[in-house]
Amino acid sequence: MKHPECGKCGYDLTGCEGNRCPECGQLLIEAGVTVRGKTARERLLGLARLLLILLFGIAGGVASYAYLDAKAGQQLAASQQQVSTLARELGRMQAKMMELKLTYDTLRLENLHLQRNLELVSATLDVMADVERHRRESN
Ligand SMILES: [Zn+2]
Repeated sequence: MKHPECGKCGYDLTGCEGNRCPECGQLLIEAGVTVRGKTARERLLGLARLLLILLFGIAGGVASYAYLDAKAGQQLAASQQQVSTLARELGRMQAKMMELKLTYDTLRLENLHLQRNLELVSATLDVMADVERHRRESN
């Protein structure tokens, strides 16, 4: 409900007659009359406005939360993809290393065989030289 009040002292002028405030005696045309309080319709409109603001706020909050959630999900998926890519790369490198180690072992073995053969050839040559020397001495 709206209540007219004295502009000077704030006295409730409801039901008052005359051009002066019954409280302070001021001429109402000089003091002015203020109207405070809201009608039921204004209150309802204010409430509706507040509800709308709240609803929009909640909707906005939910929307931004959903957006952030989706963004975090995307980032997580991207990170997981990077991790699995790195894991695949690591697996490939490990396989390559095993291959290299196998090649190295094979080469080392071949080298050992060659050294053994060389020693055998060298020993055979020594024996042949000895035999030749004995033959010459006996002649
Ligand atoms: Zn007054």
